[in-house]
Amino acid sequence: MITDLELYRKAALAAARAYAPYSDYHVGAAVLASSGRVYVGANIENASYGATICAERAAVSKAVFEGEKNITAIAVAAYAGTAGSDAQSGAPAYPCGICRQFLSEFGGDIRVIVGADEEHLERYTISELLPKAFTNGFKSDTGLTEGE
Ligand SMILES: [Zn+2]
Repeated sequence: MITDLELYRKAALAAARAYAPYSDYHVGAAVLASSGRVYVGANIENASYGATICAERAAVSKAVFEGEKNITAIAVAAYAGTAGSDAQSGAPAYPCGICRQFLSEFGGDIRVIVGADEEHLERYTISELLPKAFTNGFKSDTGLTEGE
């Protein structure tokens, strides 16, 4: 079983593979699926800023593409600037709102591990970060089809 620290370290390594020429903010994510497999991703920016994809969604997309539907945990690590002596992690890289929604599709109790560095890890659940998430409950039998 992979530890939180090991998962965070995988995220930190993934951050070095980000494509971030605009923000120079390199984010890596490591997703632990219920199968035990880990999938990593990094942010991929675009000249059309809105087309940018975050590290979390890149990693989750890889997992889902490989058949995973249940995510157990995700770690996110980031640094600004060039990797090396001038790299600064700064504040923890909390998942953005879109990524919180994206994650909640694959488990209400996904553990989210973030930290400015590996000695200051913070742990949350996705439901703590996104309470009352929009879910697929609208597809239930008592939902849209009722009264038809
Ligand atoms: Zn995001």
